[in-house]
Amino acid sequence: MSRHVVIVGAGPAGLAAAEHALRAGARVTVLDQADTPGGQYHRMLPEAFKARHPDRIQHGWAEFARRRRVLDHPRCRWWPASTVWALDRTDKTLHVLRGQADGGGRRRITLDPDALILATGAHDRTLPFPGWELPGVYTAGAAQALAKGERVAIGSRVLVAGAGPFLLPVAESLLGVGAEVVAVLEANPFATVGKGWSSRPWRLAAHAGKAGELARYAAALARQRVPYRFGRAVVEARGADRVREVVTAKVRADWSVVAGTERTYEVDAVCVGHGFVPQPELAVAAGCLLDNGFVQVDGDQRTTVEGVFAAGEITGIGGAVTSAAEGVVAGCVAAGGTPDRALVRERDRALAFAGRLAAAHPIGSAWRGWLDEDTIVCRCEETTYGELTRAVQAPSCPGSHALKLGTRAGLGPCQGRMCGPTVSELRGGAERHHRPIAQPIRLGELAEPKETSA
Ligand SMILES: Cc1cc2nc3c(=O)[nH]c(=O)nc-3n(C[C@H](O)[C@H](O)[C@H](O)COP(=O)(O)OP(=O)(O)OC[C@H]3O[C@@H](n4cnc5c(N)ncnc54)[C@H](O)[C@@H]3O)c2cc1C
Repeated sequence: MSRHVVIVGAGPAGLAAAEHALRAGARVTVLDQADTPGGQYHRMLPEAFKARHPDRIQHGWAEFARRRRVLDHPRCRWWPASTVWALDRTDKTLHVLRGQADGGGRRRITLDPDALILATGAHDRTLPFPGWELPGVYTAGAAQALAKGERVAIGSRVLVAGAGPFLLPVAESLLGVGAEVVAVLEANPFATVGKGWSSRPWRLAAHAGKAGELARYAAALARQRVPYRFGRAVVEARGADRVREVVTAKVRADWSVVAGTERTYEVDAVCVGHGFVPQPELAVAAGCLLDNGFVQVDGDQRTTVEGVFAAGEITGIGGAVTSAAEGVVAGCVAAGGTPDRALVRERDRALAFAGRLAAAHPIGSAWRGWLDEDTIVCRCEETTYGELTRAVQAPSCPGSHALKLGTRAGLGPCQGRMCGPTVSELRGGAERHHRPIAQPIRLGELAEPKETSA
């Protein structure tokens, strides 16, 4: 009987893993909490839109269209709208909820794979600033998800700011759904970005397609006369009922504000993104070791737990091409195969991109200078910067768990997804406290005694 490989996440990493696990002869189950495959990069329009040319808002559509066909393979089982909410460390049993997250009647199912590939990706990192809790302030990922997945613009006059190349597709998508983008602001100075990307350019050969993608974004911004500025950040959002204006300022390489350079933009929405943080909850539940928040893997994409593999942005932020290249290796090895040397080399070349991204778009350490005592850090529980710094500086500085209970930061509905990295940084970069429940589950569902094995 062939090995049963379960893959959590049908983004670029998960789909590539499925294709290569099938090629190596395994039986494969791919599941994703989303209704459609593609992950964040290939976010698709809902069926109801009956889009005739979905490729027009997608990069790399042809490759994606080819790869998603693996889900129809006779040895592949595809479970959309299926959330893994917990993982049992002792026997690696996956606990799955099948059905629409916002509807009733989700079924509880367990899976016992021979090998597990975690390809759960990442989510937005957004640094706090005064006023960021106002309606109209969005993460860049949320703005992108609404524009790409629903054709909805977050506002009519929008400022896009933060750090990283992801700001460009977000601005392009906003323009595509009719918003006016008043400016795109990269907080890092040109010198940092230029140095990060330009050294040894031949090492980026695996990402040659990215140059074309970049050129398309630049052209879209130029056509609409959207200014792109380096070394400028959003340091405050203002408005009584919702955001009405944002204050931006010139920042130094460490992101400290240059006094007297403030400029105000009138907007009805702002979207801010400072890169991404991984979603390692299931890996943590399995007992995998993390390195700086990312799941540690070896050259075969094996985690530190036997039978558990990881690929894509839970192992490092490197874009869709890198994620897929990791998925190829993970899928093959998890199925008991040996990856072709050329595929391993391709993955290693792709990984160069992750290093460049981090070097070209770092997070400056002085961003805390933007905050006031009253700036809210945990938006769910309204914990302020002042409360957190006082707790951290107390002689008996509590551990992450006690800090959470004492200040409530991270205890709200998002479970620290937004404030977790910030709180961890305020504690000097200490590891975050992770919860055993990876995704929300209703008490009624938890109490439901029926859990069937599949
Ligand atoms: C909101 C957002 C929008 C983005 N848009 C773009 C873009 O337009 N262009 C670009 O270049 N890059 C974009 N990125 C970056 C992009 O995430 C990566 O480059 C790439 O998609 C990473 O691939 P991946 O396979 O590692 O993860 P992802 O593509 O993130 O796929 C992970 C999948 O795992 C699923 N998942 C996670 N946890 C569970 C669970 N417990 N149970 C079941 N399923 C689960 C998720 O639903 C998701 O579909 C975006 C990132 C985010 C967060």
